[in-house]
Amino acid sequence: MSVRTDSLDRFIEGVKKRNPGEPEFHQAVYEVAASIVPYIQDKPVYQEMQILERMAEPDRAVIFRVCWEDDNGNIRVNRGYRVQFNNSIGPYKGGIRFHPTVTLSVLKFLGFEQTFKNSLTGLPMGGGKGGSDFNPKGKSNGEVMRFCQSFMTELHRHIGEDTDVPAGDIGVGAREIGYMFGQYKRLTNDFVGVLTGKGLEFGGSLIRTEATGYGTVYMLDNMLQHAKNGMDGKKVAISGSGNVATYAAEKARQLGATVLTMSDSSGYIHDPNGIDEDKLAYMVDLKQVRRGRIKEYADEFGAEFHEGRPWNVPCDVALPCATQNEINGDDAAALLKNGCMAVSEGANMPTELAGIHAFQDAGILYAPSKAANAGGVAVSGLEMSQNSARISWKEDELQNLLRNIMTDIHDNCAEYGTQGGKVDYLAGANIAGFVKVADAMLAYGVV
Ligand code: NDP
Repeated sequence: MSVRTDSLDRFIEGVKKRNPGEPEFHQAVYEVAASIVPYIQDKPVYQEMQILERMAEPDRAVIFRVCWEDDNGNIRVNRGYRVQFNNSIGPYKGGIRFHPTVTLSVLKFLGFEQTFKNSLTGLPMGGGKGGSDFNPKGKSNGEVMRFCQSFMTELHRHIGEDTDVPAGDIGVGAREIGYMFGQYKRLTNDFVGVLTGKGLEFGGSLIRTEATGYGTVYMLDNMLQHAKNGMDGKKVAISGSGNVATYAAEKARQLGATVLTMSDSSGYIHDPNGIDEDKLAYMVDLKQVRRGRIKEYADEFGAEFHEGRPWNVPCDVALPCATQNEINGDDAAALLKNGCMAVSEGANMPTELAGIHAFQDAGILYAPSKAANAGGVAVSGLEMSQNSARISWKEDELQNLLRNIMTDIHDNCAEYGTQGGKVDYLAGANIAGFVKVADAMLAYGVV
């Protein structure tokens, strides 16, 4: 066993021992440590100061009870969380997720990843994540409002525009952010930029809604161009039909690609003619406004509906934009067999380790989520700047900033990840994200 493998194994054993029963967190830390342990092998200062060990431990995690009343007068109880992972380079920043699968393990994996992602954007933001096991599906607006108000009644003690600035994530969109911001303002009497993803009328930024999906496609486009290829004519398989998937589909189409699939938790649609502008507008109405099931799209446009995930559909490019661990080793093998040559991750950690290894062994272009979906938090960072300065930037300024930030992220990954003429975007993203946070931690001494 080499010294490197031995150090990695020992490090991961320690993480597992200290965090029992948290498989998603172990997975996220392993993926990063596999790049960082070899990188710091000849950099003793990071080892002596236990930087990686400290980065794998959140600054704090708050867990709280959320009580609310449903429309039938029943009292309901959920669990709320905020994991403040690392604020070495700026206030904690990261989304809030409402989904029945939310656990401390899921939020620790997301907060850990967020620390590296936020560092990659080049903006002054630390990493955090929060949420609840509350399921907004099938709830009335009144129920969602009462839940959000109760959630914020506790959360407001722990956040602030210079402390911790949450945003949306799965199950938390403009409606939920509005309810939570309203309650924060009511409790504190402060109108400040404490949440991002707000409505444009009350401090939100243009293009925040589109930013994650657009950024995922910009990352893909940058990788293709770097490899002397391009988006035009590419066939694209997308999973998800929420915020990230919708705008990834829109931008891919605008850059000349054909989008063949989208999905939700019930299955996927395959539209061989491509999801054009009008069909995408139908999808937005179906999934975001009427909150229906994706099969209705297939019935409306004569497309195919299948249960499961879309990775058996032949495509040139895969954009997983639904949730974590949605591409396993078999899915990756099916994509490769059908000729997939690039993957850009809109969702957080959508590819299991076996899938990542398959992509890397096949030598295809693979952009990990911490780089590929950083456009969303980047524009959230720009929303924070606008709120602090009490100004609103114009759309074309923001579009340019987003495009440039994604190009910088690509170039930074390429700088740290190029070996033997090929770019390992996973190693590049991990190392580039690590160095900035690690150097700030060194400057602070032992804290
Ligand atoms: P949304 O809630 O808007 O959409 C989520 C989509 O994924 C829906 O189509 C949902 O289907 C589907 N989905 C959720 N869970 C599952 C599951 N277990 N199995 C199959 N399908 C599932 O979320 P977002 O688009 O905001 O987020 C998607 C991903 O992108 C997440 O990983 C998130 O962390 C990540 N992300 C989001 C950012 C943002 O700006 N919003 C920023 C960076 C990352 P259904 O409608 O049936 O629930």
